[in-house]
Amino acid sequence: MVDASFRPVSGMDLPRFAGIPTFMRLPHIDLDDTGIRDVDIGLIGIPWDSGTTNRPGARHGPRQLRDNSTMIRAEHGATGVRPYETANCADLGDVGPNPTDIHDTMNRITSFYDRVVEAGILPLTAGGDHLLSLPVLRALARRRPLGMVHFDSHTDLFRSYFGGTEYTHGTPFRRAVEEGLLDPARVVQIGIRGTAYDTEDRDFAKSVGIRVIPVEEYFSRGPEDVMAEARKIAGDGPTYVSYDIDFVDPSFAPGTGTPEVGGPNSFEALLVARLLDGLDVVGADLVEVSPPFDPSGGTALLGASIMFELICVMVRKRAAVDMA
Ligand code: MN
Ligand code: MN
Repeated sequence: MVDASFRPVSGMDLPRFAGIPTFMRLPHIDLDDTGIRDVDIGLIGIPWDSGTTNRPGARHGPRQLRDNSTMIRAEHGATGVRPYETANCADLGDVGPNPTDIHDTMNRITSFYDRVVEAGILPLTAGGDHLLSLPVLRALARRRPLGMVHFDSHTDLFRSYFGGTEYTHGTPFRRAVEEGLLDPARVVQIGIRGTAYDTEDRDFAKSVGIRVIPVEEYFSRGPEDVMAEARKIAGDGPTYVSYDIDFVDPSFAPGTGTPEVGGPNSFEALLVARLLDGLDVVGADLVEVSPPFDPSGGTALLGASIMFELICVMVRKRAAVDMA
């Protein structure tokens, strides 16, 4: 049942610069609260960047994303979707990380998401660096491998870093394929670009059947055509959406650790997420917003806006389930 107590605080009632900044000004509900049973979509922060190989700072992402998400209103400007009238959405708080221990933190994340799945909640995560997708997928894909639509300028499919380190933000989807969490035939990576060390990541993609769409192909075909193919690849099955903010051109999203020039603009950043509509999205994340590289918060405002697009896609899928 959709419950009015899950509506965000309106800027018409309380100015948007006032109040405690939860994601989208939604109510904060702890996993231990009884109200958790009524939540359909949970927004979760993972303030953790211990998988970062280059410029850090994404551990500060959730807080800046929450602050900037107070700018987002309840109705979608282009589609008219009013997500909070279709599904109960709440801020479930942060997963508490251990910044000095990668494996301890990954276990904490998986345990948290096991409880989210158990409660029947679809998670939308704000990172944090991209390694966090792996422990999230370990919980979400327990029963069956998932498809994935992945926006990024990097494949994050490398075998290892620094002579054998297997868990970094450049390796999560290599591990996820090895662990059987993803069905490679239903995975598409969009926006890949930039200089490279070698072709080891893309060779792996090819060897397992992951579709990689470089940014050159994205621009020559256009977002509508590319996203039609992405929806076809993901198909009707359960699908995860992973959105690295460095998919977007650094002129629009400078606040990230590994920027790559020559990317989509902020309009396209929203449009590609909107064009996920119709997929069976069982979870999503928005990662790699690093506030120290953009203290003004423009990158986080774009990130929060992308999260709103993802909420709109996720509630429409939830509404379809409820009507069935
Ligand atoms: Mn990236
Ligand atoms: Mn990434």
